[in-house]
Order: sequence, then C-alpha cells, then structure tokens
Amino acid sequence: MTDVRIGKSRVYASDLGLGTNAVGGHNLFPNLKDEQGKAVVRAALDNGITLLDTAFAYGNGRSEELIGEVLQEPAYDRSRVILATKAAHDPAKDGSFNNSPEFLTQSVEDALQRLQTSYLDIFYIHFPDKNTPKDEAVKALHALKEAGKIRAIGISNFSLDQVKEANRDGYVDVVEDHYNLIHREAEVELLPYLKENRISFVPYFPLASGLLTGKYTKGDVFDSSDPRSSKPDFQGNRFKQIVERVDALKPMAKEYNITVAQLILAWYMKNPFIDVVIPGAKRPEQVEANAQSVNVRLSEADYTTIDKRFKEE
Ligand code: NAP
Repeated sequence: MTDVRIGKSRVYASDLGLGTNAVGGHNLFPNLKDEQGKAVVRAALDNGITLLDTAFAYGNGRSEELIGEVLQEPAYDRSRVILATKAAHDPAKDGSFNNSPEFLTQSVEDALQRLQTSYLDIFYIHFPDKNTPKDEAVKALHALKEAGKIRAIGISNFSLDQVKEANRDGYVDVVEDHYNLIHREAEVELLPYLKENRISFVPYFPLASGLLTGKYTKGDVFDSSDPRSSKPDFQGNRFKQIVERVDALKPMAKEYNITVAQLILAWYMKNPFIDVVIPGAKRPEQVEANAQSVNVRLSEADYTTIDKRFKEE
C-alpha cells in the first residue's frame, strides 16, 4: 500500500481503503451478519488497508460500533488505523439532513463513543442540508479539528457550488462523491477544482456495487427483494452494455493474471485525480482479493485503453 496525504491535513491513509456500508448496514442490505462484518474489517486490517470508511447511516451506528469492537481486539492498534466516518441524517427529524453546528458537534461525540476512540481521522458531512450555510457547517468542523476531536474535514454529496461555498476558508481536506468508470460526471469540473485546491478525492461505488467485478452475465435479472433491482445500472439495455464493456476487459486482466475487479481497482489507483479507493465487501475473501490490486503495475497504454472503453457512447 502507498500512503497518501488527505488534503492539507496531517492524515496519511493507504491508497486502498475499505467501504463498510455492508458492515452492520442492516438498513441497506438484507441478511447481513454482524460477525461477518467484523471479519471483513479484520481482513482489511490484516491485508495492510488502513482507511476504514463508515457512517452513522450504515445501520444507524451499527457499522461504527462493530468497527469499534474490532479495534479493541489485541491484534489491532487504533493509532495505525485511519477512521473516517460521516453524519447528517438526524434521527430526531425522521432522518432528514442536518448540518447545524450543534448537530455536527454532537454527531462527532456520538461517533467517538460508538467507535470507542478519542479522535476521528476524517469526519465528513454526509449530505448537505437545506438551511445551513456550507462554510458555517465547515467552521464547526474546523473548531472540532482545533479541539483535537477530528483530524481532517470532509464533505460528501455536495454539488460543485456547494463545495466552493464549504471551502470558502480553505478548510476542506477531502470530498467523497459518486464516481466510477460508468459514472464520470465529476471529471468535467469537480475533480480539476479539487486538485487545484489541494482537496483529496475519494470516489464511492468504485465497483458500481459489484457490477464492475466481471461476475455478471447479460441475462442476469434481480428480483424486487434485491437492492440491485432499484439501481438503473442493473436494468435493461444499460445493464447489458455495461456487462459487455466489463467482459471486454477480461483478456487484459488475463494478461496480468488478475481479475477484472483487480484491474479496475488498479485503474483508479493510477488515476491522478483519485486519492483513496474504498471498495465495499460482504465477505473477507472479497477484501483479500481487492487488496491484491495494489500490486498491479498497470501500463500507461492499458490505463488509456480502459479509460477510453468506458467513455465510448
Ligand atoms: P462498491 O464498492 O461499488 O461495491 C461493493 C460490492 O461489490 C460489495 O459489497 C460486494 O457486493 C461486491 N464486491 C466487492 N469486492 C468484490 C470482489 N472482489 N468480487 C466480487 N464482488 C465483489 O459499492 P459500495 O460498497 O456500496 O460503496 C463503497 C463504499 O463507499 C461503501 O462501502 C461506503 O463506505 C461508501 N459509500 C459512501 C456513500 C456516500 O454517500 N458518501 C454512498 C455510498 C457508498 P456483492 O457481494 O453483493 O456483489
């Protein structure tokens, strides 16, 4: 793993992290087991991954609690782990977004309790709310940074204008947003702005919820109890077209003696606009396989081929 600096902060994280919405995220995925989630976290730490990306919204705090429990185990050292969490969903307001300084300050305290730690390495505002000026919300996080409760300031799901407003004082260290080979809108304006302003970028859904791993075939259908059935990428012609493009990478993956998932993760790690890639996982074996992608040395020519293949109309 290579360590990357998060924005202008003193946080250095592995360039491959772990997304943990399937660790305790019982509100997001059916049939998750807490023990399996903890095994996923252990697999990440055992394979050199230092950044764990969680949120209150993943199981209403359950993901944070399970991570906190793993970090209490003798095998692990809190100081070697980069804990990133997020909040905005206000349980007192039916889960609607709240970015008020009071709410964010209390959310950090609550997350510290659940994670059984005295500081968070990265704290993100998970979603913008309607009322709070973005720079006011970030100022509250700056105060928490000065108090030593958080080490880096993040925002997530903000439009470019909202990012600019949030960063009025230059306090934002990292942005987390939806981006992957099949959702590339951020490339037009957001990613250049972040680079110019020394703000790190962490894309979410890097594997498009598993669709970019190469494990699907064009004939697959998802029944209504499956969360994938509500995602447009998993339906109709769009699904078939994506599967075709992913399948077309299989010969290249074979040349490197790796899987398509590893090839695609290596593409993100070579991308100069991306700082940390955070694939999620339901099983420890998936984490172990994904961790191998850091050893892939993707050539410039293959990087460009993948880039172009997913840009074609
Ligand atoms: P993802 O990383 O695109 O896909 C992860 C899923 O792909 C896994 O749960 C697993 O699902 C499958 N998978 C992973 N590795 C695999 C492998 N080697 N082989 C085959 N299948 C594999 O999606 P995500 O986990 O939803 O998103 C990543 C992370 O981003 C989340 O965990 C979360 O931390 C973060 N996130 C943040 C926001 C935000 O608003 N800031 C929003 C969404 C996500 P199956 O086994 O079920 O196929």
